[in-house]
Amino acid sequence: ASAQIGVTGLAVMGRNLARNFARNGYTVAVHNRTAAKTRALVEEFGHEGEFVGAETAEDFVAALERPRRLVVMVKAGEPTDAVIKEFAPLLEPGDMIVDGGNAHFADTRRRERELREQGIHFVGTGVSGGEEGALNGPSIMPGGSKESYEALGPMLEKISAKAADGSPCTAHIGPDGAGHFVKMVHNGIEYADMQLIAEAYQLLRDVAGYSPAEIADIFRTWNTGRLDSYLIEITAEVLAHVDAATGEPFVDVVQDQAEQKGTGRWTVQIALDLGVPVSGIAEAVFARAVSGHKDLRDASRGLAGPKAQPLGKEEASAFADQVEQALYASKIVSYTQGFHEIAAGSDAYDWNVDLGQVASIWRGGCIIRAAFLDRIRAAYDARADLPSLLADEGFAREIGEAQDDWRAVLVAATLQGVPAPGFAAALAYYDALRADRLPAALTQGQRDYFGAHTYRRTDREGSFHTLWGGDRSEVGA
Ligand code: NDP
Repeated sequence: ASAQIGVTGLAVMGRNLARNFARNGYTVAVHNRTAAKTRALVEEFGHEGEFVGAETAEDFVAALERPRRLVVMVKAGEPTDAVIKEFAPLLEPGDMIVDGGNAHFADTRRRERELREQGIHFVGTGVSGGEEGALNGPSIMPGGSKESYEALGPMLEKISAKAADGSPCTAHIGPDGAGHFVKMVHNGIEYADMQLIAEAYQLLRDVAGYSPAEIADIFRTWNTGRLDSYLIEITAEVLAHVDAATGEPFVDVVQDQAEQKGTGRWTVQIALDLGVPVSGIAEAVFARAVSGHKDLRDASRGLAGPKAQPLGKEEASAFADQVEQALYASKIVSYTQGFHEIAAGSDAYDWNVDLGQVASIWRGGCIIRAAFLDRIRAAYDARADLPSLLADEGFAREIGEAQDDWRAVLVAATLQGVPAPGFAAALAYYDALRADRLPAALTQGQRDYFGAHTYRRTDREGSFHTLWGGDRSEVGA
């Protein structure tokens, strides 16, 4: 046994992760169901470091130093269970199975429980950054036992991305499914970020009349300020790209139907179960769904809309500044909602997740990496029990300064008939939280009227019911 770590599942992610370990000086055992991929990896990249190619599960396990660290990078779902079934009988107490796939955290909790009975540590681990990140440094979100992190953490810290201050973009998130839960919400926030950027683009195009190339320049400028982030950076690249075949802007030759793999949907489903309002993320998932309903859209194209009133050049430039404000304010809200979901998950499952640390390890390597995350970390550093990011003085001030422009952008969007569901949902959330009174009081009255569901009063303790069908007197419930 000579390998400090092993990777099974050598598609793009597994292969690049294995190379990343090897480039960092670790001896890496590699294995894949189809052995040709194992041979190809060793042949093509063998010069990058020490690899031990294993054709069988037995050889693979035998190649690993104890306690064994076995990273699984296969298709999430049934394949993960199949691989566990194959390897678990070959392992010994103290060994670790590290699942780096995009597993649902509930599956991770189940697998962790089952393997714990055999004394095997199951480390459900979120990995973000795509294939490029896997090779050069991803953001890594390991769950599982503290003990497993002691044996695995230093290696993950070595291969992970580093934030601008040099700190590794990985940390022990919490027990069992905590890592995959946090990765799930990361992806949900990613959906929201992408949707907000898409709305900003469409407003700049349809309301302000800018071309894709001009909008690319606007995004490049934004990327030098507080919106500095990977997603803004690549948005500018995509918008500036010209299709070679037609000479048209690339964005105009791509079909406008967004696809999804499921982690955004999970984020919303789990938020519904936990009762956490993640309206910005939900709108982002629904916006992709709307885009994909081609028949519905075709059948609706004739519906009436407002008369477009394009802005003049100077107005357009002022409007672009307002859109930056609206985008930033909406972004604060979607992160507020995402971190609320992590806090709620952590409470529900007793994970004790450190929210500031989550912001910290998202600063590099992952798709939502951004200067903004430093601010979030600072907010939680200043106050670990911050009930909401909006309760942070700095964010509250910025959103307060942005709100007039945010509202103006939504007025323009509404009047010109440009959908901006992410901006609108974010503003509605902000206004709802600010409100002295919500119409939920009326909702409670309706519920009591038709279903005797009772209500609580503002002036007295207890639950009450009004005899709506009778003399409308009030009774205690
Ligand atoms: P895929 O999700 O396409 O999975 C392909 C790999 O799974 C191959 O190695 C394949 O082996 C193996 N596999 C499939 N079914 C089985 C099975 N029943 N038993 C054993 N092995 C099986 O690969 P990716 O590299 O794209 O992703 C790997 C994991 O990482 C996934 O869970 C994905 O969700 C996650 N992930 C992916 C990211 C990305 O950007 N692609 C980013 C972050 C996470 P074979 O060669 O024999 O077919």
